[in-house]
Amino acid sequence: MKVIFHEAFYQVYTFESAAAEGRMEAIVDVIHADVDFVTAEPASEAQIAAAHANTHVDYVRESGLYSIAALAAGGAIQTARIGLLEPAFGLIRPPGHHASKGSSWGFCYFNNMAVALLSLYEEGLIRNALVLDIDLHFGDGTVNILGDEKWVKIYNPRNRSRQKYVQEVGHILSGVEVNLIGISAGFDYHIADWGGVLATEDYFAIGNLVYKAAQACGGGCFAILEGGYNHDVLGHNVAALIEGFSS
Ligand SMILES: [Zn+2]
Repeated sequence: MKVIFHEAFYQVYTFESAAAEGRMEAIVDVIHADVDFVTAEPASEAQIAAAHANTHVDYVRESGLYSIAALAAGGAIQTARIGLLEPAFGLIRPPGHHASKGSSWGFCYFNNMAVALLSLYEEGLIRNALVLDIDLHFGDGTVNILGDEKWVKIYNPRNRSRQKYVQEVGHILSGVEVNLIGISAGFDYHIADWGGVLATEDYFAIGNLVYKAAQACGGGCFAILEGGYNHDVLGHNVAALIEGFSS
């Protein structure tokens, strides 16, 4: 499977948990032998402007984080584009799902998912899409930017039981007919992470449900990294999702 990545993502760009030293290495160490890395390229100013107000872009620029945030957003676009043809994973940071049109919080700066989907939509590559946000935290930024768009459906499963959570994902995906399913893949709902609920095998199950739903309707699928902070398990959880995507 293709994994969109850039060595710049190793950079500790802030003191936030998402930017922690060793976080990307923890994932690369586990998956590198089984994937093909594709080098991420930055999103253009126009691609970012489709999702964000100029004032917010200026704020990110003044924070000194424009380059790394634009690279993450561009990596998400590439991941989504490859996802139309074959499942793909965007190993990117900073994350994006708490970035709204005019503001951001929670370690996020540009909304990678929104930038990616808007870019493909405006290029005419997709007519509709579904966002499945499996991060522990509600993806408020994605809802802020894409919530009024009739062509996107956004789901944040909230079940506190792991069996019911996976069932909820199954219900969300049953009978879905879209050109593209994008997973906002936070892994902080894991049993050994902040949320304390999902097992590693559940990420396999979720990846597999998405892959099968995409196959069933002739659509594509992709996932981009959001949260996930326990470096001991993060790589194995990413590996499980990727494996579910390809079997
Ligand atoms: Zn989170």
